[in-house]
Amino acid sequence: MIKIYNTLTRSKETFKPMKENLVKLFVCGPTVYDNSHIGHARTYISFDIIARYLKYRGFSVFYLQNITDIDDKIIKRAVSTGEDPIDLAREFEAKYLQDMKTLGVENVNFYARATEHIKEIIVQIETLLEAGYAYETDTGVYFDISQYPDFGKLSNRKIEDLNVHRISPDSSKRNPEDFALWKKKDETPTWDSPWGTGRPGWHIEDTAITEEYFGPQYDIHGGGLDLIFPHHEAEIAQMESASGQKPMVRYWMHTGFLNVKGEKMSKSLGNFITIKELLTKYSPDVFRFFVLSTHYRSPIDFSQEILEQSHNSLNRIYKFYETLEELLNVDDSSLDEPSPDESSPHNSIPETKENQEIDRLLEETKFKFLEAMDNDFNTPSALSLIFDFIRATNQNIRQGEISQKSVQNIKFFFNEISDILGLNFTSQPKNSKGHLEDELVDIIIDIRKKLRKKKDWELSDAIRSRLDDLDIILEDK
Ligand code: AMP
Repeated sequence: MIKIYNTLTRSKETFKPMKENLVKLFVCGPTVYDNSHIGHARTYISFDIIARYLKYRGFSVFYLQNITDIDDKIIKRAVSTGEDPIDLAREFEAKYLQDMKTLGVENVNFYARATEHIKEIIVQIETLLEAGYAYETDTGVYFDISQYPDFGKLSNRKIEDLNVHRISPDSSKRNPEDFALWKKKDETPTWDSPWGTGRPGWHIEDTAITEEYFGPQYDIHGGGLDLIFPHHEAEIAQMESASGQKPMVRYWMHTGFLNVKGEKMSKSLGNFITIKELLTKYSPDVFRFFVLSTHYRSPIDFSQEILEQSHNSLNRIYKFYETLEELLNVDDSSLDEPSPDESSPHNSIPETKENQEIDRLLEETKFKFLEAMDNDFNTPSALSLIFDFIRATNQNIRQGEISQKSVQNIKFFFNEISDILGLNFTSQPKNSKGHLEDELVDIIIDIRKKLRKKKDWELSDAIRSRLDDLDIILEDK
């Protein structure tokens, strides 16, 4: 039984899709006006793992994401670069999709562009107008917030808090907090509508898209924490008013921020690292491991040091997996005809106490791993179980003190983990040159330390002097 923390009820609830084992999952996609940064990546990797795990648990997942390809930010950027806004949006959408592919985020079934759903947006606005939830002015069509008393139920905030958000003051509106469903505009790009030319507001694109593919009610809606208020509140107000059905979404899931020195990584603060930049130094798996090491709802503080730690930890899993493969390969090459069970040198190992203990530990680890993942996708706990297992069995396994059957079972389990978490254990992290150099220097320093312990001053001085020639200064303190 999977338990999911639901932002709406502020509690963990047993997950049960609305219809049999079909999960309709929607996650707010990016506004494509610039390169995506690793804060975005944190959110999308988290939902990738959630989708993977739901599938692993036997659910059939329809994962939908929108692409905001029309927005004030896109237009502003296009004006500054002299590009056509739609061309600019397409360029950054392609880059986003490429970044996601490189990061192994591959479970989205469909990306829906806002500009390709103008018809659905207009239909939903018409429904809201007819039902008295919206009204038209000289500047646009607005949602009348006073008609929806539940506004704020997701965030536990008040309607008045909307005033600090980007809601343009407009004396033609009934309430200052009313938000735009349609903006009457002349400058391109614009679309025709019953209210003249213009473009849609931001919130309505998501509900028009989800209604089109999922209907008025569905299972999971996700996004970063910053979207709860007002974006997701506005979505609920629109959809529940238009359809008269509640709740629009059964489980609301929100990811914590990726922070830098305690502040959210964001374009506006200028404290961001693009996904592309990060991947010149670290492999996608190292970054994914870094994301997995923290629960998806908690904030993650980004730093080079933590990424280094992730790199080292991941290496331990790679090495362990490599040993499993080596043990199985040794056996494969020793086979001629008979089944591995009879020919393998390790299979001649009698059922020792160690072997039985490792089999038992494997079963226990598997059970606890699933238990952790069932508990609101607790990846840090799941990972720590893997390391406990490696620590407890490493020596026996390295020395081949277990039967081939057990090695195979362990490898099978690690393959499953690899699928669930989206980590590829068969490919070693692709180090940048700089990274490899660091590791080689670490090895040399280690050897030199040992030489010094043995009081081999001559050789240790020679190493230091050779490193000096390469501008690597070693100081013994
Ligand atoms: P945007 O394109 O700004 O709408 O962001 C797309 C998604 O990335 C949203 O779900 C945001 O909440 C999420 N996001 C943006 N910045 C961060 C961050 N620093 N940490 C985690 N998620 C983020």
